Amino acid sequence: MFYRKEKLRFQCTGCGMCCMGNNDDDYIAADPHEQERIRAFLGVTQQWFRRRYIVAVDHGTQGIRIDNSGRCAFLDRANRCRIYAVRPRQCRTYPFWPEVLANRSAWQAEARQCEGIGRGTVIPLTRIKHALKASGD
Ligand code: SF4
Ligand code: SF4
Repeated sequence: MFYRKEKLRFQCTGCGMCCMGNNDDDYIAADPHEQERIRAFLGVTQQWFRRRYIVAVDHGTQGIRIDNSGRCAFLDRANRCRIYAVRPRQCRTYPFWPEVLANRSAWQAEARQCEGIGRGTVIPLTRIKHALKASGD
């Protein structure tokens, strides 16, 4: 695994690019526990939360809604996450996802979408492994 040998740098700039333009995806993954945490954070009713922010996909799966232009339902007009403190695992572990860390080319390709890749200090391997484990690798 290339990430074990290379020093990977990452520092999120908060540009919001990874939260928009998701035309290939139907939803942002968020399990029921994560959904409840977000709902409580927002202080809204379950009914309101589900109607406004949650989308049902196949096989009973639910996730955070993405609008027709590919923007996450929680991205505000200034392109900031409205629920950053309680954002789901998919968002917390980015960009340390198995497919992004599969090889150097995948990491470099992702850097073209995310300006935080390659910035800042070197991320400790333990943190990368932790993110990978949390993202289900
Ligand atoms: S695209 Fe990268 S730098 Fe921009 S908000 Fe997402 S993780 Fe942060
Ligand atoms: S929940 Fe927040 S961090 Fe995750 S995609 Fe939506 S706006 Fe981005």
